[in-house]
Amino acid sequence: MKSTTVIKTSDVENFELKLRQAADTLHSGGLVAFPTETVYGLGADAFNEDAVRRVYRVKGRPADNPLIVHIASLHRAELFAEEIPFKGRKLAEIFWPGPLTLVMAGKSNIPSIVTAGLSTVALRVPKNTATLRLLELFGGGIVGPSANLSGKPSPTEAEHVLSDLDGSIDVLIDDGRTTIGIESTVLDVTFDPPLILRQGGLSREAIEKVIGHTELPGHGSVLGRSPGTCHRHYAPKAQLILVRESDSENFQRLYEDFRRQKKNVAAITHSIRVSGTSHSTRYMENSAEEYARNIFRLLRECDILGVDVILVEEIEERGIGAAVMDRLRRAAEC
Ligand code: AMP
Ligand code: MG
Repeated sequence: MKSTTVIKTSDVENFELKLRQAADTLHSGGLVAFPTETVYGLGADAFNEDAVRRVYRVKGRPADNPLIVHIASLHRAELFAEEIPFKGRKLAEIFWPGPLTLVMAGKSNIPSIVTAGLSTVALRVPKNTATLRLLELFGGGIVGPSANLSGKPSPTEAEHVLSDLDGSIDVLIDDGRTTIGIESTVLDVTFDPPLILRQGGLSREAIEKVIGHTELPGHGSVLGRSPGTCHRHYAPKAQLILVRESDSENFQRLYEDFRRQKKNVAAITHSIRVSGTSHSTRYMENSAEEYARNIFRLLRECDILGVDVILVEEIEERGIGAAVMDRLRRAAEC
């Protein structure tokens, strides 16, 4: 197996040259994992079908789950979008680069493997200096699903990418921990009011301040439009159980029950304090941002520690808290 070349952003010597080489790797059909403010992405040239096929293969991603195309700026959207609706343009002007993916009518020359055969395309400008430079040097669009094995918690550190994909990708750009920690919000602006297909790093409240009302369809109704939203996702090996916010009594009872069954139990809480806990207990600040930043990393750490059951205190579904709860529910479903 070929090894993956790691480029560290902290290693400033010849950095620009190394990014140029990474752009060349993309041009010749290679795979480059890149940092963003949300999670690490697995990049390939969006116009190279073979390269995109390799992305699906190394991730084990179902073929009916379309990919987001990352571009350097709003100007480049015209390469992929047939038309940029007024509300989409307004949002892009304000929130790009940032954790917002816009679904628009796609150009007919986009390989159908990118869009899973849909007539739309999902576009985003990520907020990361090295990745924006890579995108500029590359010139086109880079597909970028999360750089993990499908179904596992998304990667928020370069180590997570290596632990899932070392040797099966060509290059990894290591920029340390991502700042937001959960994926982008996916908004379909071909509808008016626009539809939130996936909650994420940009809150519905922030979007609505700019364009007014959005629709948040129920889980089932989104499936036809954004197929990837129905797959098993974000799951650690351990069983994940959600406990209502501040319900200390229930939390403690569950904790003790599992311990009596000789289970290795981890606890992730913000307001509840659990007595008699082990080293795999993590207390977080009562902030949705902190949950978002840490949750995937903590789930991965639980796997490394061989945890059987993870008890997680819920967080209020406001702002980015709504997206965090969405991820936790999916992880708990499996
Ligand atoms: P991921 O790459 O795992 O972050 O997932 C990308 C998300 O964007 C999935 O939920 C996809 O279903 C959604 N997506 C990508 N392209 C489209 C599209 N053309 N129309 C609707 N949803 C899309
Ligand atoms: Mg993913």
